[in-house]
Amino acid sequence: MTEFLYIHFPFCIKKCIYCDFLSVPYDKSLASKYIDALCLELRMRKHSVSKLKAIYIGGGTPSLLPVERFKHLFECVRNNFCWSPSIEITVEANPGTISESNVNELVSLGVNRMSIGVQSFNDAELKTLGRVHSSEDAERAIHTVKNAGVRNLSLDLIYGIPGQTIETWKASASEAVAFSPCHISSYELTPEKNTPLYKSIETHQIKMPDEELVLEMYAHAIQYFTNNGFEHYEISNFALPEFRCIHNLNYWERGEYIGAGAGAHSFINDVRSRNTQDIHQYIEMLNMGLIPEVESTKIDKADAIKEFLFLGLRKTEGISLAQAEDFGLNIPDACTELIEEDYLRIKNKNLRLTKKGLPVSNSVIVSLFEKLEIR
Ligand code: SF4
Repeated sequence: MTEFLYIHFPFCIKKCIYCDFLSVPYDKSLASKYIDALCLELRMRKHSVSKLKAIYIGGGTPSLLPVERFKHLFECVRNNFCWSPSIEITVEANPGTISESNVNELVSLGVNRMSIGVQSFNDAELKTLGRVHSSEDAERAIHTVKNAGVRNLSLDLIYGIPGQTIETWKASASEAVAFSPCHISSYELTPEKNTPLYKSIETHQIKMPDEELVLEMYAHAIQYFTNNGFEHYEISNFALPEFRCIHNLNYWERGEYIGAGAGAHSFINDVRSRNTQDIHQYIEMLNMGLIPEVESTKIDKADAIKEFLFLGLRKTEGISLAQAEDFGLNIPDACTELIEEDYLRIKNKNLRLTKKGLPVSNSVIVSLFEKLEIR
């Protein structure tokens, strides 16, 4: 039984050039049928959920959904689940799709956290990314959300954008902080295969910034956000005290969750499963009374150890040595070299990445797997 629910809304106005999330162009009629199917799925999955602590509605662009359909979705959630009075309910929003009336409605439905995909306050960079909004739209959206009384506001930023300089990155970071959000996610732009960005790099139409510059941008984010009262609690995430995203923390801690919607993942009873990514098949299967899962893997001990290290070390507080011992891992012995080289350190009985290890976390974790003879 889990206390965490993720709902995926796979529609956007237009695909951004770097995006490899499941999203298709918004179609009002298809999105409406999709919400009906989602409600069927939620009803089928209600027995796996106890009292909810967090609901995260992500996408895609959930803020595209008309208010009436949002109401229907929330009615369905309320009819099938109970939730704790301190529940965190997040909706992801794209600037340009936020109006005063729809945010007020979301708040009246119980939404108390909004995550706005600002990405940059520089219009040229937004254009490079293929975003549909301008920096002015982002500013307007932030004001609208704040005026609606949403205190728990999170802003997403991207660094390492082609053409971005350290100055423009610093300007975006400082503009974000000036809006007094409670949470900032700051992601490095990673060219994923099968995206237009990847193809443009392959064909030399776009050049990614130098690695050194990207590292400087990351270092600036850490220094600037922490100097402004944010805790750097995960590789890419910063929060004011008490405003860490509990939905994401559950994921990094290998907590169970239900994912509803096309392409959504669930983790229940040591089984990781995934729904079909085909939106039409998703709707059809649910209309036939079938759970739309197409993949399901039982996580054995070896997989659990990998996940524990890989996900747990994303948190800056790291992993507990006691928990590692329960998995049969002798961390202090295996990490001697990585500690000597200042990539990892042990503090308060936890193993964590150092300042030097954070930007190269993937290779540090791969080395750790080798030392621990994990394959
Ligand atoms: S708004 Fe987000 S989900 Fe939609 S295309 Fe852009 S990056 Fe992808």
